[in-house]
Amino acid sequence: MKTISLIVPCYNEEPTVELFYDTTEKVFDKLNASHEEHYQPDYLFINDGSADKTLDVMRRLHSQHPDEVHYISFSRNFGKESAFAAGLSNAHGDYVAVMDVDLQDPPELLLQMVDILEDPKQDYDVVGCVQTSRKQNPIRAFLSASFYKIINKMSKVQMKQNVRDYRLMSREYVDAILKLPEYNRFSKGLFSWVGFKTKYLEYEGVPRAAGKTSWSIFQLFEYSMEAIVDFSDVPLKLATFVGILTFFLSIIGLFFVVIRAMFFGGSVNGWASMVSIILFLSGVQLFSLGILGTYVGKIYLETKHRPKFVIAEKR
Ligand code: UDP
Ligand code: MG
Repeated sequence: MKTISLIVPCYNEEPTVELFYDTTEKVFDKLNASHEEHYQPDYLFINDGSADKTLDVMRRLHSQHPDEVHYISFSRNFGKESAFAAGLSNAHGDYVAVMDVDLQDPPELLLQMVDILEDPKQDYDVVGCVQTSRKQNPIRAFLSASFYKIINKMSKVQMKQNVRDYRLMSREYVDAILKLPEYNRFSKGLFSWVGFKTKYLEYEGVPRAAGKTSWSIFQLFEYSMEAIVDFSDVPLKLATFVGILTFFLSIIGLFFVVIRAMFFGGSVNGWASMVSIILFLSGVQLFSLGILGTYVGKIYLETKHRPKFVIAEKR
C-alpha cells in the first residue's frame, strides 16, 4: 500500500470542501480499480483563517472519516504559501500532492501523475501541471506574461508561465523542499530551486466549482514583487548601475559648468536646468532607496525568525 497525501489549502471555501472530497474519492476508486498497488488517500485540509464555516465542514469530514481526513486550522489568515508550508511539514505520504479545493486542479489528473511517477523508465520525481487556455481578462494575461519574462531574465531559477501550484511530488522532493527554511516563501520559485526531474502535464483550465477567487490584481502584483525580490538581486545591481551612470553624467555636467563659467562668464540664467537636475537626481536616489528598502525589509522579516503560521487546531 502506498499513501498519497493531499494538501489542500482552504480560505472561505465552505461550499467546495465536501465537493472536493467526493470528487477525489471517486478518482481514488478509479485509481485502485486499475492498479495492482493500493493507493490510500490522506487528506490534509488547511483552514487558512476562513471567516465562514469551512472549519465546521472539515470537522464533520474528519469525524466521518477519522483515519483518512485530517485538518490543520490556522489562528488567522496566513496566506496560501504558509498553508503549503504547514501541509508539507505534516504530510507523511509516499507521494504528496498540493491542490486547490475549488476543483480548478482536476483530481482526475492524479491518475496520470501517479503513473508517471511510478514508471521506473521515466524516472521523474515531480509532475507539475500547465494550464493551457484559461479564460483570463486580457490585461491580466498580458501582465502575467510580462512578469514571467522579467523574472526569468532576472533570476537563475527559471519559472514556467501558467504552471499551477498543482503537483504530485516524491518523498525525496518534499524532503528537499522542507530543508528550505525561509520565511518569505514564493513556492513556484522554491519548487524550481530544488531542481529534480519534473514532468509537466498540460490541461485545459476549468472555472471554479463554487465560491469565488480571493486574489485581487493588487495582491497579484504584490505576489510578483515577492517573487522578484526572493529570487533575484538584479534590482539591487540596477540601483548600482543607475548610480554609476548618473555619476558619470554629473562629471560631464561639471565640466560643462566650469568651462562655461571660465570662458563665458556668469551662469545666473541656469535656473531651469538646475531644477531639472535636482529633480532627476532626487528621483534616482529615491528609486534606489526604495529598492534597497525592499530588500532590507525582507531581511528584517527573515531575521525575526517568526513561525510561518500559528496552528489553532489540528486533528
Ligand atoms: N487560499 C488560501 N489562503 C488564501 C487565499 C487562497 O488558502 O489567503 C486557497 C483557496 O482556498 C484555494 C487556493 O488557495 O484553495 C487557490 O485560491 P483561488 O482559487 O482563490 O485562486 P485562483 O485559483 O484563482 O488562482
Ligand atoms: Mg482557484
